[in-house]
Amino acid sequence: MEKYFDAFNNAFFGTLDWTWSSIVFEVPWYTNYFWGLIVISLFVWVLEIVFPWRKDQSIFRKDFWLDGFYMFFNFFIFSIVISGIYKALETLFSDLGISEKSFAVLHLENWPNWLQLIIFFVILDLFQWFTHVLLHRFEFLWKFHKVHHSVKEMGFAAHLRYHWMENIFYKPLKTFGVMVLGGFEPEQAYVVHFIAIAIGHFNHANIKVTWGPLKYIFNNPVMHLYHHVKALPEGKTKGINFGISLSLWDYIFKTNYIAEDSGAIEIGFPGEEHFPRTFFGQVFYGFRNRK
Ligand SMILES: [Zn+2]
Ligand SMILES: [Zn+2]
Repeated sequence: MEKYFDAFNNAFFGTLDWTWSSIVFEVPWYTNYFWGLIVISLFVWVLEIVFPWRKDQSIFRKDFWLDGFYMFFNFFIFSIVISGIYKALETLFSDLGISEKSFAVLHLENWPNWLQLIIFFVILDLFQWFTHVLLHRFEFLWKFHKVHHSVKEMGFAAHLRYHWMENIFYKPLKTFGVMVLGGFEPEQAYVVHFIAIAIGHFNHANIKVTWGPLKYIFNNPVMHLYHHVKALPEGKTKGINFGISLSLWDYIFKTNYIAEDSGAIEIGFPGEEHFPRTFFGQVFYGFRNRK
């Protein structure tokens, strides 16, 4: 038992330490997620201000600061707390003889770097797409995912407005994705993580970009705004456009839907008037029993 507490402690304080070192610039710049997140956010925000899609949306749109708080809470505070639990679990699984190498399907070690990164990115994105579909399928998951869908005016920071439980829901399939790759994370995995953050920010931004013919591969703000539409189209009541970074999966599995691109559609979900508006109200909502 002591070993699990040790694993917990080491990871917890290690992550806390790492976060602090990031804030004071004592980690290699390319692994600095703290300032990296700020730089990407400012960059996309400036683009929103200079090239707004919905021109009447204010720069400090509704819930701007709430979303900004979610961003730092989910990325840093939550990851510090959970890192210890994950490490303890990892130790438990390895004691049971299950390691990240147990399900290896692909062996990437000897492949060129760029190919490793692309495969890592695509596999992780597919498993996250599927998790996202599940979040919309099952009522107990949807109760938590509603936090993300409670956004009423879309902007870059809405990307990271989500309940911390989502991190936990995404974890098993993401871990399984890494296991398929033999527990292998490419050395430059940070490139993939930064690209995913930037694409996610873009998808929620008040900018009209569709990437031309590449829209069948990459998710984009027009497509993702429809993911947030309040009145879902007939026959698609369990959701549309589940793509995270890639739109490809929605086109393959026929969950894609874009009716028009004015940006003027109403977003949210039916019954949102009963949904709490504050951070703490939203944190506890998913754990409550009543509908
Ligand atoms: Zn969703
Ligand atoms: Zn979204």
